[in-house]
Amino acid sequence: MIHFKDVTKIYKDNGVLALDKITLDIARGEFVFIVGTSGSGKSTLMKLLMHEEVATSGSIVVDGQDVTNLRPKEIPYLRRRLGVIFQDYRLLQDKTVYENVAFAMQVIEAPRKIMQRSVNTVLDIVGLREKSDSFPAQLSGGEQQRVAIARAIVNDPRILIADEPTGNLDPDTGWDIMDIFQRINAAGTTIVMATHDKTIVDQMQRRVIAIEGGRITRDEARGAYSEDQPQTFDRFYFR
Ligand code: ADP
Repeated sequence: MIHFKDVTKIYKDNGVLALDKITLDIARGEFVFIVGTSGSGKSTLMKLLMHEEVATSGSIVVDGQDVTNLRPKEIPYLRRRLGVIFQDYRLLQDKTVYENVAFAMQVIEAPRKIMQRSVNTVLDIVGLREKSDSFPAQLSGGEQQRVAIARAIVNDPRILIADEPTGNLDPDTGWDIMDIFQRINAAGTTIVMATHDKTIVDQMQRRVIAIEGGRITRDEARGAYSEDQPQTFDRFYFR
């Protein structure tokens, strides 16, 4: 579903080597954590995926489309197949919950009837249908992030990309978000999530890709946040 081959990113303005020949394959339906210290290159990887930044060299294929050097008019087609979630929610403050989610569908000119049904469906998935008419400022952080998730999935993306989605939330609220992600993933959406949240990564037991200094230092199918972690009960028990 996602293929990086020898992808290097050097930021032109300061010459920083943010990613150094990254090669990586993520299959359809996987749930992958990208971990690493601040400045290790996680966000750069996410930005290359959604074509917010362009690779200096190497090739990137997303959902069968070579996105390494997209022409500007091709970018919207890529973005439609991706749902994106950020740490700071990025909702439109002057629009209601319903309008924030509907806006993502208006952009692709969905018919009104389909739009209403889809928006209500995703608001049900994140448990916020009764807050349809609220404005973001009237919601808690966790609720705002749930609106952002509804907006990200309303166009039924193949891949959900989340950059520190629980970074501003307390642990319980973070788990609410992860429960929603698990359901979305179980329904077939590939999820790539960059995070610092050790507890979440350790408990979820999903694939973990660790990046340091722009290089992949670890890639484990059922990993933990850090290497020296007893990863499963078995491993712990038999040590
Ligand atoms: P992380 O998400 O792991 O914190 P980033 O991908 O944001 O790491 O950053 C990787 C490196 O690239 C850092 O050294 C950072 O300073 C640099 N960097 C990130 N974005 C930019 C940018 N827009 N321009 C120049 N340098 C950048």
